[in-house]
Amino acid sequence: MSNQSLSLTPALYEYILQVSLRESPVLAALRAETARMPQANMQIAPEQGQFMQLLVSLCGARRIIEVGVFTGYSSLAMAQALPDDGEILACDVSEEFTDVARRYWQRAGVDARIDLRIGPAGDTLAALLAQGQSASWDFAFIDADKTGYAGYYEQCLELLRPGGLIALDNTLWGGSVVDAQRNDDDTRAIRALNLSLLEDTRIDLSMVPIGDGLTLARKR
Ligand code: CA
Repeated sequence: MSNQSLSLTPALYEYILQVSLRESPVLAALRAETARMPQANMQIAPEQGQFMQLLVSLCGARRIIEVGVFTGYSSLAMAQALPDDGEILACDVSEEFTDVARRYWQRAGVDARIDLRIGPAGDTLAALLAQGQSASWDFAFIDADKTGYAGYYEQCLELLRPGGLIALDNTLWGGSVVDAQRNDDDTRAIRALNLSLLEDTRIDLSMVPIGDGLTLARKR
């Protein structure tokens, strides 16, 4: 027994999937198609998708912002956890990847709930703020360019209602956050963000070692 989070052996990880994963067939199919792509490691892990579905339900979320869609696994997972009148505003810069996403959203029958905006997410979020949409969103998932996280976080925090939740992906960044040899822009951005969140009195905070690290920030 240990007070520390367990390091997951491959066998233990498989066990978690065996006894808890309830992935829908369409999510499994999307995961299989994405796994054949060279950028497959940009997809979130299936147990993380399920965890995020639970978070969406727990928040009673109806309006979600997603920054970084890739092939749409996380958007699809969250869409399946939304009520019928729920919506996701999904931001990405890639037509190529989001074409895959759109196909699976249609297949799952959730495409009407997802409003895809192609373009820099900072501009899309700035437009929402300019339209007076502050404090009107329930949940945000940030999983895009790492040097952009700090800016997306500020915009999402403003767009969320008090009690809303921001989830930030890859905050352990493959372990490079504690690797003194790694000082590239992405690693430094993640480290700086993690430190700034610790000091941020506007949020309640938890860093969850699921997938590549998922930081949860609840707006006070
Ligand atoms: Ca990610």
